[in-house]
Amino acid sequence: MDIKKYQDQVYPLIKELCKIPAPSHFEDERAKFCKEWFINAGFTSVYIDEAKNVVCEYNAKNSNELTVFAAHTDTVFPDTTPYPFKEEGNRAYCMGISDDTASVAVMMISAKYLLDNNLIPEKGMLFVCNSCEEGLGDLKGTRNLMKNYAGRIKRFISFDSSISAFYTECVGSHRYNVKVETTGGHSFSNFGRENAISNLANMISEIYKIEVPKIGDSHTTYNVGIVNGGTSVNTIAQSAEMLCEYRSDNVECLAIMQEKFQNIFKNAEKEDVKIIITKVGDRPCAKGVDPNKLDELLTTCKSVYEKIANVKIAYHSGSTDCNMPMSLGIPSVAVGVRTGGGVHTREEFLDIDSLPLGYELSINLMQQFLK
Ligand SMILES: [Zn+2]
Repeated sequence: MDIKKYQDQVYPLIKELCKIPAPSHFEDERAKFCKEWFINAGFTSVYIDEAKNVVCEYNAKNSNELTVFAAHTDTVFPDTTPYPFKEEGNRAYCMGISDDTASVAVMMISAKYLLDNNLIPEKGMLFVCNSCEEGLGDLKGTRNLMKNYAGRIKRFISFDSSISAFYTECVGSHRYNVKVETTGGHSFSNFGRENAISNLANMISEIYKIEVPKIGDSHTTYNVGIVNGGTSVNTIAQSAEMLCEYRSDNVECLAIMQEKFQNIFKNAEKEDVKIIITKVGDRPCAKGVDPNKLDELLTTCKSVYEKIANVKIAYHSGSTDCNMPMSLGIPSVAVGVRTGGGVHTREEFLDIDSLPLGYELSINLMQQFLK
């Protein structure tokens, strides 16, 4: 099979995609480009859904055993002007290029390969350029996909890693914006009134007294990431707020953390101290996944990688698009089709010479799920 002519199309497509900025929730332009690309490639059932996912159905009508291949279009960067792109030797530098723009291109051209070679999946496939994987995108894309295809997806494979790493364990998290409000006043004449900052500080020290639960080899963490508040040096602070989160790869530990945080929030309420909680993130843990079916999926993927790439695969836990299907019991894995570095920084880069191998991995992997 002549894969060279397809491999050669990957890098130019990456460059085109990189030009189109796509912060989480603002993937419109990139989605439009991908949709048109799929249609030009010859696919007939392609649409953009309510969450800005581009969904390309491939022999998927009436199937309840779909295999999904997904890669996310959004980047962590808020910029809405075209991202700068530069090439240096084997490296291409651009924001979001490794995470996850290159994977989007590899997936799209792999889909085209199947179509051109008349490789038709018996049970159907979805190729999805999904939205909102990053940060406060909060998995909106895969959440919506799971809703629209409820009960119809058999397995989910996300291209969102580097070549030698599989993400197999889901780290769930809850994230909150917590705001403290008081009457406040003048620091001298109203001395003694409740201060929003000191009340917030007390909550933070309570959080940092938490002993994280441990079940088996589970891993659970928490963090206060941002604080803001106050008016001036001689004002009793009227308001102060923080962004905080906890995470765990174990669904029970996540529930225990939820209770501990709720208690801290509740206990902070008192006369003239109002606590306003806004949940800004909710990434579920895995729940009810049949371990045999997951193992089957991982073994299939692993054998392709070991055969084609001759690499030893390391298993990791992380927060990826797989969290959504895994929370619904659908076997899922995030695999990699490129290498690079500097992910989530403005110095992010892609190893250009990793693309031919990544592409070969991708088309071989897809062909495991034709029957
Ligand atoms: Zn990613």
